[in-house]
Amino acid sequence: PGRVRVAVRLRPRNAEDLLSDADFADCVELQPELKRLKLRKNNWSSESYKFDEVFTGTASQKRVYEVVAKPVVESVLSGYNGTVMAYGQTGTGKTFTLGRLGKDDASERGIMVRALEDIVANVSLASDTVEISYLQLYMESIQDLLAPEKTNITINEDPKTGEVSLPAAVTVKVQDLDHFVELLQTGEGNRHAANTKLNTESSRSHAILMVYIRRSVPEKVEDDINSQDRITKSKLPMVRKSKLLIVDLAGSERLDKSGSEGLLLEEAKFINLSLTSLGKCINALAENSPHIPTRDSKLTRLLRDSFGGSARTSLIITIGPSSRHRAETTSTIMFGQRAMKIVNVVKLKEEFDYESLCRKLETQVDHLTAEIDRQQKLRESEKYDLEKRLRDCHDSFNETRKNLVTRSELLEQKNTRLELDIEEALAELNCQKDQNSLLEDKIADLEMSLKQNKQNQLENSTYQKVLADTTQMYEKKIAELMKQLEVERAKSESAEEQLDAMKKLSDEHKKLIQHHEMENSKYQMALADTTQMYEMKITELTKQLEDGHTRFEGAQEQLDLANMLLADYQNSTQGQDETSELRFKLEEMYRLHESTVNELQSLKAEFKDQIQEKEAISEKLYAVQEKLSAEEKRRKAIEHELVNLKKGAPEGDKHFEDKKSYMKENIRGTSVLGTSAILNKSGTLRVTQSAQRATIAKICEEVGLQKIIQLLTSEDSDVQIHAVKVIANLAAEVKIISAELIMVLYTADGNQESIVEEGGLDALLTMLRSSQNATILRVASGAIANLAMNEMNQGLIMSRGGAKLLAKTASGTDDPQTLRMVAGALANLCGNEKLHTMLKEDGGIKAMLGMVRSGNSDVVAQVARGLANFAKCESRAMVQGHRKGRSLLMEDHALEWLIDNCNTTSASTRRHIELALSHLAQNEDNARDFISSGALQELQRISNESSREDIRNLAKKMLKSNPVFQGEMRLGQQ
Ligand code: ADP
Ligand code: MG
Repeated sequence: PGRVRVAVRLRPRNAEDLLSDADFADCVELQPELKRLKLRKNNWSSESYKFDEVFTGTASQKRVYEVVAKPVVESVLSGYNGTVMAYGQTGTGKTFTLGRLGKDDASERGIMVRALEDIVANVSLASDTVEISYLQLYMESIQDLLAPEKTNITINEDPKTGEVSLPAAVTVKVQDLDHFVELLQTGEGNRHAANTKLNTESSRSHAILMVYIRRSVPEKVEDDINSQDRITKSKLPMVRKSKLLIVDLAGSERLDKSGSEGLLLEEAKFINLSLTSLGKCINALAENSPHIPTRDSKLTRLLRDSFGGSARTSLIITIGPSSRHRAETTSTIMFGQRAMKIVNVVKLKEEFDYESLCRKLETQVDHLTAEIDRQQKLRESEKYDLEKRLRDCHDSFNETRKNLVTRSELLEQKNTRLELDIEEALAELNCQKDQNSLLEDKIADLEMSLKQNKQNQLENSTYQKVLADTTQMYEKKIAELMKQLEVERAKSESAEEQLDAMKKLSDEHKKLIQHHEMENSKYQMALADTTQMYEMKITELTKQLEDGHTRFEGAQEQLDLANMLLADYQNSTQGQDETSELRFKLEEMYRLHESTVNELQSLKAEFKDQIQEKEAISEKLYAVQEKLSAEEKRRKAIEHELVNLKKGAPEGDKHFEDKKSYMKENIRGTSVLGTSAILNKSGTLRVTQSAQRATIAKICEEVGLQKIIQLLTSEDSDVQIHAVKVIANLAAEVKIISAELIMVLYTADGNQESIVEEGGLDALLTMLRSSQNATILRVASGAIANLAMNEMNQGLIMSRGGAKLLAKTASGTDDPQTLRMVAGALANLCGNEKLHTMLKEDGGIKAMLGMVRSGNSDVVAQVARGLANFAKCESRAMVQGHRKGRSLLMEDHALEWLIDNCNTTSASTRRHIELALSHLAQNEDNARDFISSGALQELQRISNESSREDIRNLAKKMLKSNPVFQGEMRLGQQ
């Protein structure tokens, strides 16, 4: 108890956030288990804040009520004043948290309805009363929402008790919850809501629900009063009055963002007045200041007896996830942090403890009694059940017994019948036995005679067998003898036939021999004729051969003669060839001589030219030397002047030295954003940072931005580095520079613009162009990265060749820190669609993709973020119709880069890559690249496996809506 309780609630990402968050990374990260909230300040640093409770986007209305408002409602029911307030940018869910009626869905009911439900349930409407007023504060005028004709209601303050009241406001006695919901609805209908650019439902007015409770005090109190007063007091029963305020504050955003114009500027001033003075009061309360400026505005006057002091107070601050509203989110969080420091002095009475104990015990007793009751009822019903079952058993037993008796009777009857049957059968059996013995005797006789017959038959058969055997033997022998006789006869017949055939054959042979002898003598005559003829022919042929030989010898002689003639002729031609060859060589030598002479002449001419040139150069050198000495003289004069000036202002000089030494000390830290180690002795890092910020702000005020920027061009590289760091800090700390008042914050964000206006950007770019110092390059690119977060600066950076310079810096270094800054800067530039073409032409994309060579995961993360930015902006431009054709990323092979790096371990890098692929897939002109590079498979994987549902859905949508992808996938399945 005692401190103002502050909870923070994050609104879930809405459609607008999803559409316009090219950056994609939320600007806050919740750690509900630690009750902490991390606020991302820029691409690579964040700060952590602790709250009493941290609600994520999924927190239920019921839990929010129970944690934030229920303790306040309970204390109001016990007689203390209490307040529940919601603070935050328009559209972050203040009204959702407080004022939601939940008519259709009871789970959506907000704090107002739930608080009244609790109050109505806890008071007895017979003896107590609950009344409400519903007001709106708009342009420092209070209007009654239950009677809208009443405007400009005045606030009364009781000078003694300090109690605040609004006598002119309507108060309505609440009968039940439905009645209250009706009243709220009427009030809401009357609420004036200016139409802002951010949210058409949003409101710039403060809505205030006041609930007055009057409860009669229990009798016991009268015991303490002495007997004289007793009579009068018992006639006037004691009451306890308390008040609950539920305040839905106006949006905390800067009004120029919501597009205010004309009359609305006046309105802006008044709204700022009430919120600003609330901020001031909170600061004063947080610092325990003796003076709390509650009189400055109507809002703070209304809250006088309900906020801080003796009331119990809960504040819920609402924020959105989008980085677009980083400044508003930051100021909201700082407001909440300050409010957490406010301590209330709520005094607890003893009765309160006793009552609560009593209530607890009572509920316990109630609980136990109910339990006993329930048990008893249970036992009774069990007993009844058992009895019923017993009865049922009894009945069924009787029935079965009856059945058994009838069955045994039946069986007995059957038995007697069977006995009679058996006796009859026995008599018949005896009769049959007698007949049987008679038959047996007869059979014995017949068997005897049968045996005799068999013996006689056996003897007969042996005699017959012997007879048959002897006859068979004789028959066989006769047959054999017959066969032998026939064989002999056949042999004599065949011998006669052979003799006849031999006689015939010898006759034929004799005839054949005579015929052959005649033919032989004929052939011998023919042979003698032919031999004679051949011998004549041979003698003729030998004669012809001899003639040929003599002719051949003549020809040979002629050939030898011809050869001799040919040799003579060849000897005479050789001499002529040699002379022509020599002449040719001579001509060649002559030509060579001429060309060398020519060369010599041209060399001489060249030599002359060079001598002339040398003379000209030495003349120029002399002129430059003269100029140099003049410059030297001028520099000395300026130095002299400087010394004079320093002498003239000794105080200022000391000041300057202080600042210089501070800067050196302050900037020795490692981070660009200055989480330096100074002031370590004096406390926490946060203190250090805010002190540092304050000092930097002071330096800025006193030295003047112009001068710091001039230091950037100093010859001393140390000074240069420090100046850059100061500028880098100013660029990063845009709106958080003054921790004084949230409202003051609105006017203190000029740093970025001033840095740019005063030529800081040009100075930073010059350093990238000409410096070789690694630290300068790193810090300058960090400062540019920070400046590049602002859309206006992005255009300036690009138009001054920033992308080329960043690309050059990236190619010239291997320092991972520098590469990270450069990648961050380029990634920020990717978020501006208008600059895409220029960024690509200046080699920005190539440079980003090339930086992966460093292998540093932070660099890869920045590059992935940049590509996601680029692809997202591009696809948005396509949807809006001012871009067409294949993505600019394709030519630089970004698709291949994305596929190569999509297996990274960093979840956020992977998310960016997946997002980039999904967006690139939206462009139908990229479809061919997707199929040829294998990105289509990656997209399918993303649609199934991405860790984020929205990306999965996006990828699925792209796959489904693109006919080329559909065709390809069908092919793949076949
Ligand atoms: P404010 O009152 O701060 O201007 P609203 O309460 O009107 O903001 O909320 C803006 C929109 O956001 C409304 O449509 C609301 O329904 C929605 N919204 C706000 N907070 C949540 C939440 N926690 N859960 C779901 N929707 C919310
Ligand atoms: Mg609202």
